[in-house]
Amino acid sequence: MARLEESRISGPGDGKVVYIPPMEPWGARFFAAVFRHAGYDARALAEDAASLALGLKHTGGGECVPCPSTTGALLAAMERDGVDPDRVIFFMPTACGPCRFGQYAKLDRLIFEKKGWNKLQIMSPSAENAYEGLDAGARILLYHALILSDIMRKFVHRVRPYEVEKGSTDRTVEDYTRLVEDALVAGDKARIADLVREAARILTSLPKRAECRPLIGVVGEIYVRCDPFLNGDLCRRIEELGGEAWLAPIAEWVLYTNHLRNLLLKEQGQGAGAIAERVRVWLETHLFFRRIEHKYYQLASPILDDRREHPIDRVMEAGMRFLPWQFEGEALLTLGRAALFVRRDGARAIVNASPMFCMPGTITTSIFPSLERELGVPVVCNFYDGSGNPNQGLTPVLHYAVEACRSKSASSQPAHAFEREGA
Ligand code: SF4
Repeated sequence: MARLEESRISGPGDGKVVYIPPMEPWGARFFAAVFRHAGYDARALAEDAASLALGLKHTGGGECVPCPSTTGALLAAMERDGVDPDRVIFFMPTACGPCRFGQYAKLDRLIFEKKGWNKLQIMSPSAENAYEGLDAGARILLYHALILSDIMRKFVHRVRPYEVEKGSTDRTVEDYTRLVEDALVAGDKARIADLVREAARILTSLPKRAECRPLIGVVGEIYVRCDPFLNGDLCRRIEELGGEAWLAPIAEWVLYTNHLRNLLLKEQGQGAGAIAERVRVWLETHLFFRRIEHKYYQLASPILDDRREHPIDRVMEAGMRFLPWQFEGEALLTLGRAALFVRRDGARAIVNASPMFCMPGTITTSIFPSLERELGVPVVCNFYDGSGNPNQGLTPVLHYAVEACRSKSASSQPAHAFEREGA
């Protein structure tokens, strides 16, 4: 029997409900908006302790925590919404290779079959399955959604630590998030551009404190580092302890997989077909991915002028001092970005966030001590499973980083643009 996760969704919408996992607060909402644009009844999932417990009940207990968390969020939402499983599509990207991520959709399928939900579909768009029948317009809009989620999150992290009126940044960004969602549903890119520009202008004008805060680079496994529920609201905790967080972006993964494809073709591909494919990958990267990214960062000026991302080949190059690029996966990006956060951006500490038992997380944790000595800043490797108080280890690290920052700023100019704009 053909597995339903491998079958394409036919026709726009099909009267189905698409549930989007809550990996990142803005990304899930913006992706749902794009699927609504494509005609689906799409909803962003939410996680809490009860949904995680539900997910753990249906999984084996040894999976990385994003697996039970996403499954539990779906089961809780279906129960709450009372949706017929036959009408449900679960958006769950997949991958090949040794990492457990490729097993999530397979395990979900087994769980659904056990419950008798044989018609519940799992959508994993990729080039191999013709993007599950999503049209080109929706696919392009999904990449806009991805960059927009990076932009909105960065707005918050860049402004909130310095706000004078508590809550003003979150409120402003939430207002614009709703407007961007509406514009994505309408597929109106010109309106989205206006909204990003307007949000940047309003956030720039918010009163801010002139204070020195050490920059803390956050790297690691993509789901846990981005998900405030699973990582104990890591970035807000960094702010509470006196720092400013810079979280590695989600778009990084798309750029990485494209660059990796290019490297593989260079090494293994032969003949005209391989050359043509390399040209296609190059054009896609430079004329599509980078152009969209550049456009939004320009619109987000001046707030994100010093929060632009490193080109992906530089990130990989920095990571390749420790692992060859043929060692595919997140470990290379985690190490490379951590090095660049410190060397280029002046980060005063690094947090490496991973789910408990994460394979790339375990590898990077074993390598970070030597990188830490080389960089001369502390690296906190945190493993998360959705329980306890995993961010306790940050307190002493942030304490000394804040002290050093304040004594330095007492004798020189503040390091960050917003410090100079303080009320
Ligand atoms: S990256 Fe880590 S957490 Fe994610 S699937 Fe792989 S092993 Fe699990």
